[in-house]
Order: sequence, then structure tokens, then C-alpha cells
Amino acid sequence: MSEGISQADKPEVLEGHERDLFSKFDDIIHTRETLLASGVEDPFSLVMEQVLSPTRAICNGRDTILLGTYNYMGMTFDPDVIEAGKQALENFGSGTTGSRVLNGTYQGHREVEAALREFYAMDHAMVFSTGYQANLGIISTIAGKGDYIVLDIDSHASIWDGCALGNAEVVPFKHNDIEAMDKRLGRIPEGAGKLVVLEGVYSMLGDIAPLKEMIAVAKKHGAMVLVDEAHSMGFIGEHGRGVAEAQGVLDQVDFVIGTFSKSVGTVGGFCVSNHPKFEIMRLVCRPYVFTASLPPSVVATAATSIRKLMHGSNKRAHLWENSKRLHSGLTKLGFKLGTEEPQSAIVAVIMPDLEHGAAMWEALLKEGLYVNLARPPATPANMTLLRCSLCAEHSAEEVETILGMFERAGKAVGII
Ligand code: PMP
Repeated sequence: MSEGISQADKPEVLEGHERDLFSKFDDIIHTRETLLASGVEDPFSLVMEQVLSPTRAICNGRDTILLGTYNYMGMTFDPDVIEAGKQALENFGSGTTGSRVLNGTYQGHREVEAALREFYAMDHAMVFSTGYQANLGIISTIAGKGDYIVLDIDSHASIWDGCALGNAEVVPFKHNDIEAMDKRLGRIPEGAGKLVVLEGVYSMLGDIAPLKEMIAVAKKHGAMVLVDEAHSMGFIGEHGRGVAEAQGVLDQVDFVIGTFSKSVGTVGGFCVSNHPKFEIMRLVCRPYVFTASLPPSVVATAATSIRKLMHGSNKRAHLWENSKRLHSGLTKLGFKLGTEEPQSAIVAVIMPDLEHGAAMWEALLKEGLYVNLARPPATPANMTLLRCSLCAEHSAEEVETILGMFERAGKAVGII
């Protein structure tokens, strides 16, 4: 770091006047301190002391129903999944200690990629250490200097960070607005490379994208399309391939991004594609090359889970029933929800402000129910949300119990 700036050029730093690099966080520190001073339990430091099943845990000393995990298909305690993990741990050890392109590709990595190719009926599958890294890697690598990325303004942080890591021009459009997307694409110079990035399910409000119409517009402009199906894999679509499958347009999607941290029930991320040159990504995609690969136990659990999800249509049907039951029950109780109809396994309850949101979150926790408190900047339009995500392992009775808890807590806090 000695290059470029000589001793004589160095700006003078007066002792005691160094700029505190943490001062940029003062606003969030203040908001957090004000919230905690009101006496509520900290919504962002909950500890699961024991996990009893996909839907129950001991949290802060209480037996709690979990309604704020992404364990949509309840695979975390599946006996076959657990057994596969144990076997791999014993046979292959606890970790690979290396990158996929050096010593970090084991038989299990190949097997999970084969399971993904089969699951999606696609030619190529590439596994990353997280879904976050899959977006980071694929987006930053395929869209380079002189290319354009056209994306929904409500895209997940990992999509935005993928854009920031690359050198393409980034053009956002209003959430789910087909016309706005069409206009943005129309203004891109002739001949430039274009990547449209969409999500199947948007995780804050639980709404889905009109992929059929949007992909038609993207293709009209000659753009490639990437769809993040993190919250729909395993659940939405006849085979659980996601919203693009449900809307009959999966064959027009160039890249599907997904994660193992939701329906699959472990950790990891992936991209599947039919692009004939896709395999070159293994050599040029930095978030794939310059990081350690997933442990053998993780890829073994993922492969087993993905293969079981191929036959999960009964579970998918039950999860839809749960989602509809919760959505209609909360609507009848008078809560304001993120969508008019249930569109996914996420049901978002809109809170008037952070104070009421935190009070409601705490009242529910005391009732024995865990949901996610979501606040800006993660949420659209500065909303505070209590985000409920259902699991195929919640029983109908459990959903009724949950509705009773919402009713008591909502009345106590003065929301309904
Ligand atoms: N994409 C979306 C839409 C997500 O919601 C998430 C995680 N919440 C990710 C990607 C990242 O997935 P992972 O947890 O595997 O990093």
C-alpha cells in the first residue's frame, strides 16, 4: 500500500480527530437502542436452544411453533436426509478444505449436481456454497462491461450485490411492472448484451412475478433471462421446479438460481441452465473458484432431499392448504396482508410501524409463536412486516392454533 502517496502528500490527521468509520451506523444504532429501551425482547437475537422438529423449537426457554423459517417442505428432519449426512460425514470427513476447481470436488458434489439436472430436466448444474454466492457469481460473471442488467427494484440483496460486483450497467424497473420493464429494455443501445433478472416469489410480501408476460417481453428485446426461484423450488409448479414451471415458461429461462437453504433444508446454492457453453463458468466465476466447496455431509443431505422432493406432490398440496388456511384466517381476523390471495408459502402481515411490529412480534413469541419481523431496508416501501412462512409439516390444527395466537396478540397490541 506504499505506492502512489508519498509521506509528504499524506493528509494530516490530528490526534483525537480520526474519523470513526462506524459513524455511518449511528442511525441504525439509535433505532435499535430506542426499540430495546421500550423493554421488548430483541427480535434479532433469538436463540433456538433446541430444535424439536421442522415446526417446533425451544426459543428463549419456551416451546414455540415455528412460522418464520424457510423450511417449506420440512426436510430438515427427514430420516433419509439425516442418514445420508451421517454416512457422508463418516466416509468423507467433515470438510473438503478446498475449492471446487482444486481439491474440493468430491463424489457428493457431482451427485448433487446430477440430482439437480434431473430435478429441473436441464443440461447443466453448478453448485455454490450458498444461494447468495450463486447470484453473486452468475450475475457478475455473465454480465460484463458494456452489457446491461435489467432487474426488478425489489430484487434480493444477493442480486443487487451480484450487480455491484460486476461491471455491467444496472437498470432497475418498478416491481412486477411489465410495461416499465419493456420501456427500460427498449432504451438499451442496439447490439448490447442484456440480462433480465427476476424472482419467482418475492420473499418480503410473498407475491409472485408475472413471469410468462415478462419473459415474453425480455425475449422480444433479445435479452437473456435469469430467474431466482429460491422461495418456490420444491413447492410451486407440478414438479416443484418453481414459478416458471407453473406458468409454463421454464424452457425460456436461460438461468435458474436456487438455494439449498429453503425447501431442500440444508445450505448451498446453485444455477441450472441449458446454455451449451455453461460449463466454462466453473473456470471464470470467481465466487465459485475462490472459496471452499460445501462439506460432504451437506451435499449428501442436499442430494437426498432433492431426489425426495421430486416425489413431493402430496406435501406440496398440503402446503398450499396451509397457506390458504392461514391467509383466509388472518384476513377474516382483520389483519392487512401483503397479497389479496395466497400466492406462495409466505404470508406477510403488514404492521402500522416498527413499534407496533416489535410489540406484536413479542406478544406472539410469548404466545409460543415465532414469525419474522422484517423492516426497512429489507422490505419494500418502508414497510414493517410480520412475515409468516408455512411448512408442509404444519398440521391443519396447528394453523388454527396459530390463528388463535394472532387473534389474542393482535387485540392485546391494538392492531385488530
Ligand atoms: N435469493 C433469494 C430470493 C433469497 O431470498 C435468498 C435468501 N433469503 C437468497 C437468494 C440467498 O440464499 P442463501 O440463503 O442460500 O444464501
